[in-house]
Amino acid sequence: MRKAFVAGNWKMHGSKASIMTLVSDLNSKVSEVGAIDIAVCPPAIYIDFVSRTLATDKISIGAQNMAIEPEQGAFTGEQSVAMLKDMGCNYVVLGHSERRAIYGETDAEVAAKVAVALSSNVTPILCVGETLDERESGVMEQVIATQLDAVISEVGIDAFDKVVIAYEPVWAIGTGKTASPAQAQEVHAFIRTKLAGLNAAVAEKVIIQYGGSVKPDNAVELFSQPDIDGGLIGGASLNADDFIAICKAAG
Ligand code: PEP
Repeated sequence: MRKAFVAGNWKMHGSKASIMTLVSDLNSKVSEVGAIDIAVCPPAIYIDFVSRTLATDKISIGAQNMAIEPEQGAFTGEQSVAMLKDMGCNYVVLGHSERRAIYGETDAEVAAKVAVALSSNVTPILCVGETLDERESGVMEQVIATQLDAVISEVGIDAFDKVVIAYEPVWAIGTGKTASPAQAQEVHAFIRTKLAGLNAAVAEKVIIQYGGSVKPDNAVELFSQPDIDGGLIGGASLNADDFIAICKAAG
């Protein structure tokens, strides 16, 4: 039985004032949520502020990205995995479609970052997903398999024991268009079956989140699918009531 995991990706949103309000609201409402794992991923500059403001150990902290270089050094503007860990991050989102599309991150770079995160015991939330064009032209599974294969060949299938996968159809991110529960389940089952071909025990255990316009009113149906183990939540994670309602749906 897999434990559901819901993570909030705040992207490049917020200010000290708005984050203070959001975290205070999360502090007071998180006790309403059952036994699931929860994380929030603030912009890097606010990680320490969130960690000092969070008054609950029910919510972990994650980063939205990290340096590919494993050690500190002359890499202006970057944060190393050790720095993230030092500031209390247990998770790091890697390969988000915005980083792939806007900053040109390749499958190989994402795979290398996954290896760096794992080497420091920071859990990667590995994002995979297809664009609308790729879905409509019938190469969706091939695209997702390629994204996964890059990581599998870098870290090996057994390491997926410590990896969270987030299936995020690019066409559903921030668009208000959610994959239907059946569409999402189909891809989650494809991912799990693919991993099972290499290691059945790891595939059975691996958490596969769904991400893409998850809201309180669609979360229950999405999370009730057999291979959907929670969500990676963008827009709705900026509102404590919505985020808590989504967490409750996963419980
Ligand atoms: C995301 O950015 O990972 C995401 C799923 O965003 P949204 O929930 O806003 O679609």
